[in-house]
Amino acid sequence: MAEERLFFQAEVSRLLHIVANSLYSEKEVFLRELVSNASDACDRLRYLALTAPELTEDDPEFRIVLSVDKKGRGLTVADNGVGMDREELIENLGTIARSGTQAFVDRLTGDSSRDVALIGQFGVGFYSAFIVADRVEVTSRKAGEEQAWLWTSDGSGEFSVTEAERDSRGTSVTVHLKKGEKEFLEPERLRHIVKTYSDHIPIPIRLDGEGDKLNAAAALWTLPRKDISEDQYKEFYHHVGHAFDDPWLTIHARAEGKIEYTLLLFAPSVRPFDLFHPERRHRVKLYVKRIFITDDHEGLVPPYLRFLRGVVDSEDLPLNVSRELLQTSPILARIKSAVTRRVIGEIKKKAKKEPEEYARFWENFGAVLKEGIYEDPDQRDVLLEIARFRSTARGDELISLDDYVERMKDGQEAIYYIGGESLEGLRHSPQLEGFVARGVEVLLLTDAVDEFWAPAAQRYADKSFVSVTQGAADLDKFALQDEDAAREDGEGPSDSQTATLIALLKQTLGDVVKDVRTSERLTDSAVCLVADEHDLDMRLARMLKQQGQLDELAPRVLEINPRHALIKSLARRATEKGASDALEDAAHLLFDQARIAEGEPLPDPAAFSRRLADAMTKSIAATA
Ligand code: ADP
Ligand code: MG
Repeated sequence: MAEERLFFQAEVSRLLHIVANSLYSEKEVFLRELVSNASDACDRLRYLALTAPELTEDDPEFRIVLSVDKKGRGLTVADNGVGMDREELIENLGTIARSGTQAFVDRLTGDSSRDVALIGQFGVGFYSAFIVADRVEVTSRKAGEEQAWLWTSDGSGEFSVTEAERDSRGTSVTVHLKKGEKEFLEPERLRHIVKTYSDHIPIPIRLDGEGDKLNAAAALWTLPRKDISEDQYKEFYHHVGHAFDDPWLTIHARAEGKIEYTLLLFAPSVRPFDLFHPERRHRVKLYVKRIFITDDHEGLVPPYLRFLRGVVDSEDLPLNVSRELLQTSPILARIKSAVTRRVIGEIKKKAKKEPEEYARFWENFGAVLKEGIYEDPDQRDVLLEIARFRSTARGDELISLDDYVERMKDGQEAIYYIGGESLEGLRHSPQLEGFVARGVEVLLLTDAVDEFWAPAAQRYADKSFVSVTQGAADLDKFALQDEDAAREDGEGPSDSQTATLIALLKQTLGDVVKDVRTSERLTDSAVCLVADEHDLDMRLARMLKQQGQLDELAPRVLEINPRHALIKSLARRATEKGASDALEDAAHLLFDQARIAEGEPLPDPAAFSRRLADAMTKSIAATA
């Protein structure tokens, strides 16, 4: 077959340009990426050989070999792994299979040490060869096939694929170094880079012509803890996690007894970019007796721990385990719950010992952990225990539910919360006023997931969770803190005047409100909206409507503040003759105001602005 010229997918072209230009200061990572691909290729073949042993019979020892061609300025990374056929070369090295390339490009900051961290995460590792290369050649022969293929590109928009020869299975990636990059031809330099970035890769890496391997080549998690340095753990984390930060938490443990497994898991200290992707995939690698099986099996780690990176190596699963078998394996289910318990236990310990460090972790991953509160009833209580919150009682500080419960008022039976988009917005919510005035603490919840777990969590320390934007407030039993506010009540409207006003508001507003009633919830504002106790809470309903999962918002309850000057005078007017006409605009204005305070759009903004203009005109005329 003649040489075939193909174009890179547009995103790849753009990416190549950025990679080559912005990541120069981190250029040596290209070698780590190529070695890591070689090692992945060996892992994959080893796995295939479990069921098709003929694939590796002729050459069972996996290896990675680096060789240098000083004259031609070429550095080659060769492996005897799974190899690629023509289609795979085109697919794997010409497109970016994973979605989110645009997101990647958008997130590049220009700060290369940050950008380079994104590279591994987005799976564009191979393209990093173009940081140092003016041309890259990939010769590959797929295990079990005779035909080899040569892929070449100068990284400027096109690549070509043509038939080639290779003596045996595997892949050789040759990087033709740019003029200034001769350092990567020096054995010392290569030895150093391999030692730094790829020491623990469980496949020997050799320099062509030299006998000794450059790396330790032992699976790190199989070594005793005391023989592993912090740097080795860190390097391993960088490798398995495609990460560049320091791990926030390292858990290395061996379970013996009924089920035997080793785990080496890390929690990152920064948020991975895809933490909130809808697939919620984790990337913990499952090994069986040192052999890599898969890195995306949902049965290994629950989605709410998807920030974890690392390895779980089982002694009990059969080596020829298939995906179908994994799906229903009781052993895997037991490993999963043991791993889950262990990880949460370690997080809890750290929360206790290093509360400030823990607060940083919580800012990164709290929103994800909270998914477990409604997804995993077994862990609900401990997750609630380690959960942290902002609240009305403590400025910006994070508090625990135990802190909250300790501060509860006499007779308080519920843990109160309010949900919304931002802390700032929440702190000014009218529904909070009555709670704050009585010194009743309210949790301020700003993560979308809060709307789901809070109604589901039911109880903590025998207290139920109650939204302050839903149902009746029941605040009578708590005294107002400010004596003046309590006494000022004196010349309010009579009960019957207020009742008349309420009847009038109901009549004017009709079906758009579920009910109109007075409220203990308000101190400064005249009105607010709350959800009826049988409906969805307001923010949840808004979120579901936005996602198209709900057609219409249920009508809300309009609460009025009988101590507010406006409501007082409206109540007095309500019993006068002709009040229903006179107060019609006021009724609509009150309701619209409450909607605005909720951040909800008005169905008829023009009518609102006309009524407001009328009201202002009258009030100015009255004072003139
Ligand atoms: P990632 O390793 O995160 O998938 P890369 O850009 O490093 O992303 O590699 C892209 C893909 O190219 C790999 O997923 C793999 O399918 C293929 N590939 C790269 N190098 C090799 C190799 N040495 N042997 C076999 N396949 C390879
Ligand atoms: Mg890679």
